[in-house]
Amino acid sequence: MSNRLRLAIQKGGRLSESTTDLLAACGIKISKPDRKLRALAEHFDLEVLFLRDDDIPGYVADGVADVGIVGENVILEKGKTVETLDQLGFAKCRLAIALPRTFSYSSAQDLNDLHIATSYPGLLQHFFDDNGVQATIHEISGSVEIAPGIGLADGICDIVSSGSTLISNGLKEVETVLKSQAVLIASPQLSEEKKQLLDRLRFRIQSVMKAKQHRYILMNVPNTSLDVVTDILPGMKAPTVMPLVKEGWSSVHSVIPEHAFWNVIESLKEAGAEGMLVVPIEKMVL
Ligand code: ATP
Ligand code: MG
Repeated sequence: MSNRLRLAIQKGGRLSESTTDLLAACGIKISKPDRKLRALAEHFDLEVLFLRDDDIPGYVADGVADVGIVGENVILEKGKTVETLDQLGFAKCRLAIALPRTFSYSSAQDLNDLHIATSYPGLLQHFFDDNGVQATIHEISGSVEIAPGIGLADGICDIVSSGSTLISNGLKEVETVLKSQAVLIASPQLSEEKKQLLDRLRFRIQSVMKAKQHRYILMNVPNTSLDVVTDILPGMKAPTVMPLVKEGWSSVHSVIPEHAFWNVIESLKEAGAEGMLVVPIEKMVL
């Protein structure tokens, strides 16, 4: 057996670009082969298998691949034994039940006796069981959203992100079955050597993800406002404060979480900060 870490990723589809972008940001370049199913990475002991996303949980569970990147929806549907290690923050979507716009819906009990088309029979049945619903599931593998329009089913259970596909098919979302995003999964049986490679990969992924969730901020602050401003700014340890050539002023640098960004900026302005610059961070190693 090779001591390279074998990573299974989607061959082509909604996960592919974000996955290869993430690997590239981790310093791992893979050249996508045209027809081949595998490729070696540059600068890391990694081999990449390009698969259909449905096959990734099985390959990882069987140990054919050591790790994989795939949507949580696919892992839970397949029910394979894999370890879910990290949420990766992309391919965010939900598995939802949708009915014709004109259907008068108030609770899950209204689903009783309906025929629902889906590519996720396992997760849907689970939802029905949890909610005491008796309904019929039609498993179909694609173009689920047209099923009610052609009389194949009363409603559907499918992946939704913006909901525009549902609307254009005359459907409305009535229940969320699952929220999903891309995750890193691992086989339960990894050698020590592979575990070490995986730790290195996860360390890089986490540094990239943390960086994406933060911004570096620089501003000029009158010294009389420094206490208020440094109270507002968390920073990694504490903000950096350096004197400006202009008397009575300082330059303050800090790192702020993206989600708090606008609130922090407003408070800083009120406190007297000027000339604020906000810059993206490429990697963040704590
Ligand atoms: P494959 O050919 O590999 O089987 P697929 O057609 O089953 O591909 P894609 O449509 O490429 O799958 O979607 C891959 C994953 O991306 C889904 O399982 C889901 O986790 C996520 N996803 C699907 N649709 C969306 C969407 N509209 N927005 C965000 N993420 C999505
Ligand atoms: Mg698929």
